[in-house]
Amino acid sequence: MTSSAPEPRAPDLLASVFGFESFRPGQGEIVESVTAGRNVLAIMPTGGGKSLCYQLPALMREGVTVVISPLIALMRDQVRALRENGVEAGALTSANTPEETEEVFAALDEGRLKLLYMAPERLSGAERLLRRINVTLLAVDEAHCVSQWGHDFRPDYLRIGELRRALGVQVAAFTATADEDTRAEIITRLFDAEPEVFLRGFDRPNLYLAFEPKQKPREQILGYVAARPDRAGIIYCSSRSKTEALADALRGSGRAAMAYHAGLAPDTRRDVETAFQREDGLIICATVAFGMGVDKPDIRFVAHADLPKSVEAYYQEIGRAGRDGAPAETLTLFGMDDIRLRRTQIDEGVAPPERKQADHARLNALLALAEAPVCRRQTLLAYFGESGAPPCGNCDLCRAPGMLFDGTEAVRKALSAMLRTEERFGAEHLIAVLRGESNAKITQWGHDKLPTFGVGQDFSKSAWRTIFRQMAAHDLVRANPARHGALGLTAAARPVLRGEVPVQLRRETILRADRPERLPR
Ligand code: ADP
Ligand code: ZN
Repeated sequence: MTSSAPEPRAPDLLASVFGFESFRPGQGEIVESVTAGRNVLAIMPTGGGKSLCYQLPALMREGVTVVISPLIALMRDQVRALRENGVEAGALTSANTPEETEEVFAALDEGRLKLLYMAPERLSGAERLLRRINVTLLAVDEAHCVSQWGHDFRPDYLRIGELRRALGVQVAAFTATADEDTRAEIITRLFDAEPEVFLRGFDRPNLYLAFEPKQKPREQILGYVAARPDRAGIIYCSSRSKTEALADALRGSGRAAMAYHAGLAPDTRRDVETAFQREDGLIICATVAFGMGVDKPDIRFVAHADLPKSVEAYYQEIGRAGRDGAPAETLTLFGMDDIRLRRTQIDEGVAPPERKQADHARLNALLALAEAPVCRRQTLLAYFGESGAPPCGNCDLCRAPGMLFDGTEAVRKALSAMLRTEERFGAEHLIAVLRGESNAKITQWGHDKLPTFGVGQDFSKSAWRTIFRQMAAHDLVRANPARHGALGLTAAARPVLRGEVPVQLRRETILRADRPERLPR
């Protein structure tokens, strides 16, 4: 970055450095607050994306961000991932080789390092070093380790408070432990005054969640809108021309509707925004360009005429409905064409192969939500790290459960194929193993010799794909981003594998993918 470059903005860096297209729930506000220089305590579920909340602000400021984290393996992972993304980061831990430590000091001396990870036991005696290197932010990961009553107490964490005072530096602390006592203790030990606290579950219980396969998409949307007279809503479309065509069609049906996309003149866009804010019951047919500046609390529905880009994008877009807390509805249409289009966009993009793989994995997560066998909200919250929520009663699948069948057999075969291949492969390879399809990769690994080779011929390729997505929706398998999306078993998968717990799968998603007569009743 040259010094004449404009101030790097958070969303740009999010995309250019981390390759994410949107913030996860909570991240945007936390990043904003940290960037504004405030002391912050953020409580987010594990897997919710805490690290980004200090990594991104670290890139937006002068000086070094010191990250204190109790887990050496995790620190090293993060440093490696940051470096792969072109960020100067280093760690000082007891696992360092002397060369590694030397390299970190050299980078510090040259003022190159943006993030310095430190194990808590390295804090004693580090004050002189830290004074020398212009520390501008102290990020504390797993901040509950400061709590004497907690199960993870780390005496060295008690030094963080002293250090903060000695350096007079801003602190951002993160934990997944939300109980009130622990929170209070973190605050007294790490901060002098009350920090800004972010404690938000991701759930938006007033939003009704629904997905529908596309049959006659135009009619589905027109029907949906007609059933909601006088209500303000947004309909997201995948292209500019579609927003215009749909707005025309809605006006033709007697509804007030306007199109919005980045191709419109700035004045026109502003007019649409103002109209939406002021008029009752207006419908905006928009691309994803619409939303950032929209602050209308009483949007009663958000519909996706086409599949959104990712679960993150989906959550952000539906999240614009019902900000006033009153009931609001969402509907997402999805079709095979959408899926193919997204796959092609990813494949033909300019991103490096690992990122493409990650983008495919993200799309799969969204499909898992679209084809979820049970409560959508459970699936959505589990994706953001909040597992164990009860069925919500406010989604299409809670209201009218899908047709289910006992998929235990199929799931056990799939899990066993994963284990036999050491959880090192993605769905496509596993499906080839299950279906007994030999290819170069299969023979190279000797997977045609496995007992699971060919045990899954009773389902087509596409049926197996939906089974894997439903397994993800059940949180039985997870893609490991550090291993190019290889699928791994979760703890919940073990009892299924042992035959102790049955698994229900959605019948109609598999019917769509396969010949019906093959399904067990
Ligand atoms: P935590 O520390 O809260 O457990 P991490 O910071 O390790 O979570 O993030 C969990 C996962 O979420 C990581 O794989 C990370 O790459 C991914 N992630 C974080 N933020 C985003 C985002 N905005 N969009 C997509 N993926 C994200
Ligand atoms: Zn539900």
